[in-house]
Amino acid sequence: KTRTEVVGRFAPSPTGPLHFGSLVAAVGSYCLARCRNGRWLLRMEDLDTPRVVPGAADDILRTLESFGLQWDGPVVWQSRRGDAYAQALESLRSKGLVFDCGCSRKEVLASAPHQGEEGPVYPGTCRKGLAPGRVSRALRVRVPTQEVHCFIDGIFGRCEQRLADAVGDFVLRRADGVYAYQLAVVVDDAAAGVTQVVRGADLLGSTARQIYLQQCLGYSVPHYFHLPLALSADGEKISKRHGAVSVEQGADPSSMLCRVLRFLGQDLPSHCEKGTPREILEWATKHFDVRKTPATGQVVV
Ligand code: GLU
Repeated sequence: KTRTEVVGRFAPSPTGPLHFGSLVAAVGSYCLARCRNGRWLLRMEDLDTPRVVPGAADDILRTLESFGLQWDGPVVWQSRRGDAYAQALESLRSKGLVFDCGCSRKEVLASAPHQGEEGPVYPGTCRKGLAPGRVSRALRVRVPTQEVHCFIDGIFGRCEQRLADAVGDFVLRRADGVYAYQLAVVVDDAAAGVTQVVRGADLLGSTARQIYLQQCLGYSVPHYFHLPLALSADGEKISKRHGAVSVEQGADPSSMLCRVLRFLGQDLPSHCEKGTPREILEWATKHFDVRKTPATGQVVV
């Protein structure tokens, strides 16, 4: 593997069929990897089993295939990677960065010093040890009190977050034993050698936490590109309720691909409309220009 090889990935959560917003992330990450001759990996984020919908993962895989979005290598399933997450957690623990937390969600809400960018900020209740009689529920990582995490996003430009203000010490393993998304994504991206993370702008606020974990674990930090959010007419983020694009639901892959590429700011020639998904993606990998991708969310109808 050469030092300059690009490795991208798409990491859907199988909580329902693909929708317009997830297809934007799929196509954006695919084009940004393929346009530089890179690899494009697929990871099923089926870690949060209570939210996983039976059949959704299969539906997502079939939909991606029908769109001509061919991934490299075997699909990685987060539900089978528990050992890797446990190991990373131990490594953080050995550095003194992990502590047991006995607080319920309610207690955190009640004593949070303020609402951070990402929800209530952990008040630090169990940071210095569990109070007598308290039982450990979740495991949290200590964040630095002063340090500001800064990164240059490929679309949003310079972003910064002081973890202590935005989230506080965050959860690595939940009370129900499920590893947190923040830990899993960092461990998996590092294990797969991912060099660029392309995903929806709803995860912009998670990036500082992930960079912090990468630094604590001695991983290299990938390049980040956060794509504009697809919004419904009422200004909400597009979800499963609207804009489903699954083949099962009868979406036409070619016209859907064209819509997604235009959403990403690409000047698609009109003859593309009549092309097969493969032909459209071929055009896109040759011509994709991320400088044309807007940073602002747009309404999709
Ligand atoms: N599984 C996450 C989602 O579907 C994406 C995670 C990521 O790309 O880092 O929203």
